[in-house]
Amino acid sequence: MAQRDAATNQLNEYKKNVQQTESVTTGFGIPIGERAASLSVGPRGPLLFQDQNLVDELAHFDRERIPERVVHAKGAGAFGYFEVTNDITKYTAAKVFSAIGKKTPIGVRFSTVGGESGSADTVRDPRGFAVKFYTEDGIWDLVGNNTPIFFIRDPIFFASFIHTQKRNPQTHLKDPDMFWDFMSLRPETMHQMMFLFSDRGIPDGYRHMHGYGSHTFKLINKDGKVHFCKFHYRTEQGIKNLDVKKAEELSATDPDYSIRDLYNAIAEGKYPKWTLSIQVMTPEQAQKSPFDPFDLTKVWPQSEYPLIKVGTMVLNRNPENYFAEVEQIAFSPSHLVPGIAASPDKMLQGRLFAYSDTHRHRLGPNHLQLPVNCPFKVRNYQRDGFMNVNNQGGAPNYFPNSFGGPQNDQVAKSLDPAFTVSGEAFRYETGDADNFSQPRIFWRKTLNKEEKERLVSNIVGHLSDASDFIQQRQVQHFRQVDEDLGDRIAQGLKKSKSAKAKI
Ligand code: NDP
Repeated sequence: MAQRDAATNQLNEYKKNVQQTESVTTGFGIPIGERAASLSVGPRGPLLFQDQNLVDELAHFDRERIPERVVHAKGAGAFGYFEVTNDITKYTAAKVFSAIGKKTPIGVRFSTVGGESGSADTVRDPRGFAVKFYTEDGIWDLVGNNTPIFFIRDPIFFASFIHTQKRNPQTHLKDPDMFWDFMSLRPETMHQMMFLFSDRGIPDGYRHMHGYGSHTFKLINKDGKVHFCKFHYRTEQGIKNLDVKKAEELSATDPDYSIRDLYNAIAEGKYPKWTLSIQVMTPEQAQKSPFDPFDLTKVWPQSEYPLIKVGTMVLNRNPENYFAEVEQIAFSPSHLVPGIAASPDKMLQGRLFAYSDTHRHRLGPNHLQLPVNCPFKVRNYQRDGFMNVNNQGGAPNYFPNSFGGPQNDQVAKSLDPAFTVSGEAFRYETGDADNFSQPRIFWRKTLNKEEKERLVSNIVGHLSDASDFIQQRQVQHFRQVDEDLGDRIAQGLKKSKSAKAKI
C-alpha cells in the first residue's frame, strides 16, 4: 500500500458520522464512570475481585475467537444483488429466476483455501467463490470455487486431501512430500492441479477471476421436467493474474492484498460485476455422455454445452462489521431452493452434509438465526438450543398438529419430483476413471506457448522440493497427459537438481 486508501480511512469515515459521543457501558449496559482504571487497593494494587467492569472485559475477551474454518479460513466478503437478464424459466421454476429484471439480495465470500485466517492472500491456491441468495423461498447458497473442477471425485478423500495442503503434524510446516505424494497416488488430481499451477492459480485479487458452482446440479421447471446444470460466473472486470514474483512481494508487503482490493473498489464505487450463465444437459444426454457428467474432476465442453446467459451479480456494499457479516456468514451447498436440487455428484453429496455440520460446530445449532444467515421467513418445528432468538412464540412445536402449525407447501412438492436410482451398492474405486483426457485438451488447446512455459516452470519449482521417488511417479502421470509435458517437466527437474547440487 503506497498511500492511504479507502480501507485505511475507514475510522476517519466512521468519525464523520458520530453526532455525539455516547457513554461507554459494560456488556450488560451499565454506564461506566471510569474506563481507564481497574479497581485497585492503593495505586500499586492488588485489584479487587468485585470490579465487575474488569471481569466483564477480560472474560469476554477470553472468548472472542470462534474456531476458524478448517478450509477457506482467510476471506473477504461483500454484499449486493443479482439481477435476471435472460429468461431460463423453461429450465427452472426457482423464484430467483422467475422474471427478467428481478433483483435478489446476495452476500458473497471469496477466500483462499489452505492457509489460516492470517495467511497471505497472494498465494498459489484455489479461491473460494461462495454466493448466498436471500430469495423469497429461503436461502440458496452456491458454494463454489474459481475453478470449474476439483482435485478429487469421491468425498472419502476430502479430509486426507486437505491434510496434504496444510501443515505436517510433526514439523507444523507445509510439506512438499505430503502435497505431491497424494497428487501422484491419486492422479484424478491432475486436471485441477494443472489449473492451480497455470497463471490463473494466482488471481490478481478477487475481482478479476471467474467463479463456478463447480458441481453438477439439477434444475426442475414448473412441469417437473429435469435438466442437469453447471453454473458459471464470468468476471466483467476481465481476467487478471499476478506473476509469481509480484505475488511473492505482496505476500511480504501487503498480505491482505485481496481483501483490501475488494474493499477499496466497493468504497470507491467501482462495483465489481459477474455475468451468471448456465450449461444444461438433459438426463438422456447425461446417460449417453462419454464422460461422467457428475464427476467433479471434469468440465462440460462449452462447444457441446454452450453457456446460456442468466443475469448479473453486482457487489455494491462492504460489510459494516467483518466478524458479524463475513466470519459468521455460513454457506452450505445443502441450501437449495425449490427448482434447484442436488445431482448424484458424489462430492456434492458429501458437501451437503459437511458444510452445515461445520457451521453447527463453529457457530452453534442456531447459526441460521444470525442476521447474515437468516432467511426472510422460517416456520418449522425446531426449537431451543444455544443462542436461540426466534423460538416462534406460541406456535405448536410438534407435527402433525391441530392448532394451525405450518403445513406442506404444494408448489415445493410439485418441484420435488420422484427420481429413479438403480445399480448395485458397492464401494466403487474410481481412481482410474479417465484422469488425463481433459488435462490433455487443457495442455494442447487451452494454453498458449508462453502459458505452457510458465505452467512447466511453476510445477518444476514446487515439485523439485519433493522426494525423488515422488517426482518420478508424478512425471509418469504428466507423460500420460502428453509426452511433451512429461519431458519438459522431467528436464526441468533435472536442471533444478543439478542447480541445487552446486549450492
Ligand atoms: P473452450 O475453449 O470452450 O473453453 C475453455 C475455457 O478455459 C474457457 O472458459 C477459458 O476461460 C478457460 N481457460 C483459459 N485459460 C485457462 C486457465 N489457465 N485455467 C483455467 N481455465 C482457463 O473449451 P472447452 O469447454 O472444450 O474446454 C477445454 C478445456 O478448457 C477443458 O478441458 C478444461 O481444461 C478447460 N476449461 C473448461 C471449462 C468449461 O467449463 N468447459 C472452464 C474452464 C476451463 P476464458 O474464456 O475466460 O479465457
